[in-house]
Amino acid sequence: MLDITAEMPEIENPAPQARLHFKVLGCVQGVGFRPFVLNLAQSLDLCGWGSNSPQGVDIEVEGDPDHLAAFRRELDTARPAPAHIDRVEVSAQNPEGDPRFEIRPSAHNGRQSTLILPDLATCPQCLAELWDPAGRRYRYPFINCTHCGPRFTIITGLPYDRPRTTMAGFQLCPECRREYENPYDRRFHAQPVACPACGPHLSLWDPKGRLLCERDAALLAAADEIRAGIGGGGRREERILFLKAFGHRNRVFGTPGKTT
Ligand SMILES: [Zn+2]
Ligand SMILES: [Zn+2]
Repeated sequence: MLDITAEMPEIENPAPQARLHFKVLGCVQGVGFRPFVLNLAQSLDLCGWGSNSPQGVDIEVEGDPDHLAAFRRELDTARPAPAHIDRVEVSAQNPEGDPRFEIRPSAHNGRQSTLILPDLATCPQCLAELWDPAGRRYRYPFINCTHCGPRFTIITGLPYDRPRTTMAGFQLCPECRREYENPYDRRFHAQPVACPACGPHLSLWDPKGRLLCERDAALLAAADEIRAGIGGGGRREERILFLKAFGHRNRVFGTPGKTT
């Protein structure tokens, strides 16, 4: 029978625990930096938290000092490609024994000094998804992830979180929410995440302001117009299409004999 009153044996040489606070300054919001920090901390068996701040990202990690040193190194060397770190301020803290590493809500105190990224060109993974007829974002023009998509265009305030973007009014559908909340998904905390079920969609209007069609039909009709302008389908008349995406407007010309 188990004697629960027996004293627990002493653990020999318990691993010393240390805790560090990192203040990361630079272009570290909207680039998948917090998901990267979460995965890095978990892979090194560190507990603590990470959070956007008006100056960048604040991180507290606790665990084996060797693992903390590896965390410090990899923060620089393994960071997501679009991120740019200007400076990291490190200070020692007393261990608190958090049960895990977590991403906390953004802090709003202090002067705003973090840099905002420009919009990022669609990444290869999103392009592959865009052209996959079996995917739920097939030909969806507002596709994006933590590696790509709009940033500067949609930001209305800092820290960079969805409620402070023009995407605030679009409620995530269950599938997008699963991606947004999954630390192992490339859309983990991707603020502009959207799909045909829950995100913005295209509408095609004629010059008199009449709605012609919407969604994929609008995309195909617009492409047909441009194709007709450059001489496809036996028609040769110039076509001009005004295209408004997340924020900016583009003019697309379909001119006979030209391919752009
Ligand atoms: Zn992408
Ligand atoms: Zn969705």
